[in-house]
Amino acid sequence: MKKNLSDRISNLPVSATLAMAAKARELKSQGVNVIGLSLGEPDFNTPTFIKDAAIQAVNDNYNSYTPVDGYVELKEAICRKFKRDNNIDYNPSQIVVSTGAKQSIANAIQVLINPGDDVLLVAPYWVSYSAIVLLAEGNPIEIYSDINTEFKITPEQLEAAITPQTKMVVINSPNNPSGSVYTEAEYRALAAVLEKHPDIYVLSDEIYEHINYGVPHFSFAQIPSMYDRTLTINGVAKAFAMTGWRIGYMGAPEWIAKACTKMQGQITSGANCIAQRATIAALDAPVENIKYMIDEFSSRREMILQLLDKIDGFVLNQPKGAFYVFPDISHYFGKTLKGKSIENASDFAIYLLEEAHVATVTGDAFGCPNNIRISYAASKEDISEAVDRIKRVLS
Ligand code: GLU
Repeated sequence: MKKNLSDRISNLPVSATLAMAAKARELKSQGVNVIGLSLGEPDFNTPTFIKDAAIQAVNDNYNSYTPVDGYVELKEAICRKFKRDNNIDYNPSQIVVSTGAKQSIANAIQVLINPGDDVLLVAPYWVSYSAIVLLAEGNPIEIYSDINTEFKITPEQLEAAITPQTKMVVINSPNNPSGSVYTEAEYRALAAVLEKHPDIYVLSDEIYEHINYGVPHFSFAQIPSMYDRTLTINGVAKAFAMTGWRIGYMGAPEWIAKACTKMQGQITSGANCIAQRATIAALDAPVENIKYMIDEFSSRREMILQLLDKIDGFVLNQPKGAFYVFPDISHYFGKTLKGKSIENASDFAIYLLEEAHVATVTGDAFGCPNNIRISYAASKEDISEAVDRIKRVLS
């Protein structure tokens, strides 16, 4: 029979972050000593108090289907978290719990975007935003930011990008892949532009909220004029070392939350029962409980910036959050290294994988073709060895 896939899937790009991680895993399974700095995944164990809550849930026989939008106790815990950390008032009816923040984002875009609608993305942006918009037959429209403005956009850039087709703008602070963090003043300036365009929704991805090295986190929905049109996305993967547990959530106007619940009800239903119970423990605990991980990321950040600074041709940004560095490596374009010609960031990332056995992710996937993303959510030994290897294959 002819292999006749839909155009939808045939045209969909593979997730570059997951593809690189899979490649690194495959090489490892063949015995190659690969250092994986491609995936944004903490290398810590999930804290014991969260694991204990999960074990308790198993023993308490939490095994049935969960409500599509999440256990009410979890939605209440999420509302407490939003109030405590972000000073945003959400009711449980405004919360939808999903299988990872990725599903929360997909729900949001599916329920708001019609074919032909424009969605503004600030490049560099996380790889899956554009793919998810394309699945909804929307148009991803990139607004470029660069290293000189710390990879942040100005109100003027936002204003210039808006057209009558603009339905949504996606913002992400701390940012994946740049690590940039918007200040309250910067977000208020962007909000002032949006106030002139009342029909544009804002998807604010705040999954890296707690991985922050000093600039206070500010949630876009804290701005009163933005509250009714903002969808706040968060989850437990990054801050609580719970990537595999797959729990993300959204706080949004109730009519949008209801639509997302309807969407999720036809696709995956409620998120995993045990992971949801564990998430209640995670969110109700004082944020101090996870500070040891943030402190360690902060110290690794210092370390990797110092080490990378010694490599010729790397133009480094100074990330203020998340656990990525996003250097400009275009210095190497047009050069031939060990007989391999480097024409673009993908060639460069493949070269590092093949020659240095270090996995990174090409900037093309994030809308920035001059850069690569290096995750420092890895041990200091791995970071140091990886940078040594990179230096060796570039000299
Ligand atoms: N968000 C993480 C990353 O950017 C995990 C992989 C993914 O879902 O893209 O590495």
